[in-house]
Amino acid sequence: MSDIWSEALQGLQPRLGAQTYDLWLRPIALRRVTGTHLHLTAPNRFMKEWFENHYLGVVLDELRARTAQTYDVEIEVTTEPTPAPLPNATTPPPPRPLITAPPPQLSGRYRFQNFIKGAGNELAASAAWAAANEPGTRFNPFFIYGGVGLGKTHLLHAIGHHIHATRPELRIVYQSAERFMNEFIAAVRFNQFDEFRSRYREQCDVLLIDDIQFIAGRDRTMDEFFHVFNVLYEAEKQIVVTADRMPSEMQGMEDRLISRLNWGLVADIKPPDLETRIAILRQKAEHDRIPISDDVTLHLASIVRSNVRELEGSLVRVSTLAGLKNVPITCDFVSELLGAPAVNAQPPPVSIENVQKTVAAHFSVRITDLKGPRRHQGISRPRMIAMYLSRQLTGASFPEIGLRFGGKDHSTVINACKRIESIQSDDRELRATVDTLRRQLTSDTSTVATM
Ligand code: ADP
Ligand code: MG
Repeated sequence: MSDIWSEALQGLQPRLGAQTYDLWLRPIALRRVTGTHLHLTAPNRFMKEWFENHYLGVVLDELRARTAQTYDVEIEVTTEPTPAPLPNATTPPPPRPLITAPPPQLSGRYRFQNFIKGAGNELAASAAWAAANEPGTRFNPFFIYGGVGLGKTHLLHAIGHHIHATRPELRIVYQSAERFMNEFIAAVRFNQFDEFRSRYREQCDVLLIDDIQFIAGRDRTMDEFFHVFNVLYEAEKQIVVTADRMPSEMQGMEDRLISRLNWGLVADIKPPDLETRIAILRQKAEHDRIPISDDVTLHLASIVRSNVRELEGSLVRVSTLAGLKNVPITCDFVSELLGAPAVNAQPPPVSIENVQKTVAAHFSVRITDLKGPRRHQGISRPRMIAMYLSRQLTGASFPEIGLRFGGKDHSTVINACKRIESIQSDDRELRATVDTLRRQLTSDTSTVATM
């Protein structure tokens, strides 16, 4: 069992980033297991609460996906020294008291009350509000799309909270499409398909699915989701789905699914304008008790424009460093900091060339071979991995990836991605290799563990 625990944590590492993992997950230890009851220890109360509020959900999901078991958890605070103590000054402000929301995967932080409306998100936010107030009627399905860090997940959770508060009898299922897929795979593998089916089709009145683009190209999962969709839709259950792009632009998504996702309301979220960014910063500063003046707020909001996550991250970063250096947060201080590439920028985009170079170097093959036609295993395996990583990390479409691999057909790329997916699920070594490569390609020191 402790194997499964460390494996599950390891499995989360690429998703959460090495820094977050080291800071928040590594210090949590598994003491013992009684049936499906896990007894964990944390080095202090703060770590315990932070872990509970931020990571427990994903860890449990990961465990469930891996073992097809649902675990419950008890966390004890021990005073033993830990491998990863937190320096005091960089300790983020303690989270608000946890409001436990009965749909267990909904984050207490993501509610309508603290979602700032602005030009870029007005339609999405008001439609979300309407859908939450009249689930299953006018806005069904409801599809929200937009770039990363713009508030899609926040709105999705907010809908869940509101429905739960106003219609507590409705059973809400919130799931990322990725976990939906993992659960589906586990259900098939462990012969628990009836349970899976009942969870999504019978015991569900509101289905909230995050990042549906993830299942594009995963035929069986798409097929399963299609049936879940139909059953719920016929029964007039509310379905809300988010994605990083509009339905018709999701490469590899089945046409019949695209058409259904378009049946209801489709709303997009665009990056926030300056006013909205200021309002978001003010709210975050107040919540985290960060002392910041109006002109510094304006200054910061003018510099960081890309997305809300980036914006909030910069604020935390600025305040953490000001705290460390024991200086006030001034415009100069902000400029000085955000001038440094590590803070302001999003991680540099990964290009297909990067992927090819890194994969070729790792396996000691030539880039021309990756792009060439040879089917020898020593070449074809690295090639498939490179295609898979290109798809995961660069956001390029299947046809584009095919093109950059010597003009191969998009179906070749789709097959390669599927192959690597499926081999990975039981080949640890391959999984580790892919993780290493992914980390190499995305290694980005700018992400402070603020999430
Ligand atoms: P996405 O799912 O679109 O990638 P998230 O919903 O995870 O983005 O949002 C990223 C962060 O930004 C979250 O902490 C979220 O609370 C915050 N956020 C995004 N939009 C808003 C908004 N309009 N008002 C307040 N916070 C926001
Ligand atoms: Mg999201």
